[in-house]
Amino acid sequence: MERTLAILKPDCVGAKKAGKVLARIEEAGFRVVAMKMVRLNAETAGQFYAVHKERPFYGELVEFMASDRCIPVVLEKENAVADFRTLIGATDPAEADEGTIRKEFATSKAFNIVHGSDSPENAKIEINFFFSEKELVETA
Ligand code: ATP
Ligand code: MG
Repeated sequence: MERTLAILKPDCVGAKKAGKVLARIEEAGFRVVAMKMVRLNAETAGQFYAVHKERPFYGELVEFMASDRCIPVVLEKENAVADFRTLIGATDPAEADEGTIRKEFATSKAFNIVHGSDSPENAKIEINFFFSEKELVETA
C-alpha cells in the first residue's frame, strides 16, 4: 500500500478548517497512518521546502508555513501520492478542478490549505521529516 504526506497548512488550522478537510480526505478513501500538531519555525519550514530555495516566493512560503500550527498527516491508499494530488487540485485554487479541496477551501496560490507529496520518493523523505518509524501505525 502506498503512503503520502499531507500537511494541513497554517491557513487550514488557523481558520479551524482542519476537521472539515480531514473529513474530505477520509471520505476519499485515505486511511490515517500518523498525525500530529506541529509549529514550524523559519529553520524547519525552510528545510521542508528547501527544494524551492531559489524560487522568488520562498521567503513568503517559509514565513507562511511558520505563521501558525500545521498538522502533518501520513496517509495510506492504493496510488496514494497521485490520488492525493488529484484530490487537492492545482497549486492555485483558481485553476483547481471543481470538487477538489483547494477549490473549495483555499484562498490563493500562496495560501492553499494543504500540501501533498509530489512523488513516492519524496513522500518517504517527507514522512521521515516529521515522523519516526514507531509513530507509523498499522491500519489493517
Ligand atoms: P505543495 O508542495 O505545498 O503541495 P504544490 O506541489 O502544489 O504545493 P509547489 O510548486 O511545490 O506546489 O509550491 C509549494 C508551495 O509554495 C505552494 O503550495 C504554495 O503554497 C507556494 N507557492 C508556489 N508557487 C507560488 C507563487 N507563485 N506565489 C506564492 N506562493 C507560491
Ligand atoms: Mg510541491
